[in-house]
Amino acid sequence: MASFKCADLGMACGFEVKGAKDANEVLAIAAAHAKTSHNIANPPADLVTKIRSVVKP
Ligand SMILES: [Zn+2]
Repeated sequence: MASFKCADLGMACGFEVKGAKDANEVLAIAAAHAKTSHNIANPPADLVTKIRSVVKP
């Protein structure tokens, strides 16, 4: 189960994803969260790369 925390990116945010089946699912959930909570409608490629690098498998 993949997991991710916004705090891993240095964000002052308590959001976390737990129990996603893989990194792609984490990214989909994180993208929806970024849109609603961080006003990032289309995460830039470097942010996606950064998220992938901190996702726990
Ligand atoms: Zn967040």
